[in-house]
Amino acid sequence: MTYDSILRACGFSETELTRGTLSVTTPIDGSEIARLHQHSPAEAETMIARAHDAFLRWREVPPPRRGELVRLLGEELRAAKDDLGALVTLECGKILQEGLGEVQEMIDICDFALGQSRQLHGLTIASERPGHSMRETWHPMGVTGVITAFNFPVAPWSWNAALALVCGNPVLWKPSEKAPLTALAVQKICERAMARFGADAPEGLTQVMVGGRELGETLASSRNVPIVSATGSVPMGRAVSSTVAQRLGRCILELGGNNGAIVAPSADLELALRAIVFAAVGTAGQRCTTLRRLVVHESIYDQLLPRLVKAYESLPIGDPLEDGVLVGPLIEQSAVAAMDRALEQARADGGIIHGGGRVHTNAYPNAAYVQPAIVEMPDQTEIVREETFAPILYTMKYQRFEDAIALHNGVPQGLSSSIFSTDVRETEAFLSATGSDCGIANVNIGPSGAEIGGAFGGEKDTGGGRESGSDAWKGYMRRQTGTVNYSQELPLAQGIKFEI
Ligand code: NAD
Repeated sequence: MTYDSILRACGFSETELTRGTLSVTTPIDGSEIARLHQHSPAEAETMIARAHDAFLRWREVPPPRRGELVRLLGEELRAAKDDLGALVTLECGKILQEGLGEVQEMIDICDFALGQSRQLHGLTIASERPGHSMRETWHPMGVTGVITAFNFPVAPWSWNAALALVCGNPVLWKPSEKAPLTALAVQKICERAMARFGADAPEGLTQVMVGGRELGETLASSRNVPIVSATGSVPMGRAVSSTVAQRLGRCILELGGNNGAIVAPSADLELALRAIVFAAVGTAGQRCTTLRRLVVHESIYDQLLPRLVKAYESLPIGDPLEDGVLVGPLIEQSAVAAMDRALEQARADGGIIHGGGRVHTNAYPNAAYVQPAIVEMPDQTEIVREETFAPILYTMKYQRFEDAIALHNGVPQGLSSSIFSTDVRETEAFLSATGSDCGIANVNIGPSGAEIGGAFGGEKDTGGGRESGSDAWKGYMRRQTGTVNYSQELPLAQGIKFEI
């Protein structure tokens, strides 16, 4: 597979790839693969206006018919899965199996949203007044702005878009400036689905804005974008949410994680070992749900740690397009510098480091391949409490279960979490109100990799948003309480008398 063949298979022409100023590089070897046109703030405003016009038409299309568009999108994604999966690998460096997995997630959420399109149901509520009925109805909300991060360049868009579309909202996407090609490829797929769907799909129903944070800021400040769903770092989420709050708009925030796992004395260590390695080094530690902190009972620490270190030593690191590779590159050189800084700080805090450092520097001088690191920490110091977006796994010991929970929850972020234990008291306590404080809590599986059927998101600095399954669709609609008087009297609520 050449880079050029991947780009051509996704429908890009030479002109499209060379006509602009935004340089797109592949983390595989650091070479430039495109120079794209960047949208100006004025072009962004035109796109917002077009999306708003699309909303005025799309909200009138019956939801199950809107679901048909998402069904067609799912079909087009199935047909494009291999090509788009390879482009995800080319543009953000995750291994091919993970690139394909991300597209599968898009397909899955389309299936989910298709069913949801027939289940956007409200409630009937008992009225206290005779001859009255009350109901709660869900209506389309308006243009949904979606800002996404580089590390999951397509799936989070689809969690938002598939639901937003069936809920009656157009979707305006501002992808990461480090991963705009995958977004443009998805837009081409959407256009194929809309062409098959016919005239009910208005122009501007899905659009992609190419450029940096200033376009995200345009989305955040526009009153014609009532919902802004933003995935990325905590500082980005703080900036977006305060801008959206100024105009009292709605935010769905999916921000950083610092995910932990507790390994209890009763854990199945074989199972835990495999789960830990996948969760800590998958996507080279660049998942929001990556396992970053391991809290191990002192009685099994000396059994688990050497096996973990050994597993890390034999990890196949290299070109993510090649079969058998499990760890691809980091997104760019600055990520290696951030990893090195974190390791230095951890050492200064008394940490013992296994692994770390750049690899394959001769073969790929302009890329950022690293050896994943395990750091044995005496304590949960400040650096452990930060999310460093690289494959660093900090390990700590515990004696009492309560201390393990306190260590686990003692970080600012609250996305995903796990416990490895076969003691039902511990596992139930972990899932209880006094257990994990995260949006996602797993038992005997790692914290990374969620299914689309559940609501995805986390608490505290992770931002509190929920996307994908369960009732996340409600985030894209406005709720209306309606009361109908079918009598010939006019009784007032709370028994108030107001005679004229
Ligand atoms: P980032 O915050 O640098 O960028 C994310 C997006 O926000 C980009 O599109 C960027 O252009 C835009 N942006 C940045 N500043 C902005 C601003 N002030 N206003 C509007 N838009 C702005 O994040 P990144 O480096 O691309 O991604 C890594 C981070 O994303 C990690 O912290 C990771 O944990 C997080 N992440 C979270 C989830 C989740 O679901 N919780 C999923 C993936 C990634």
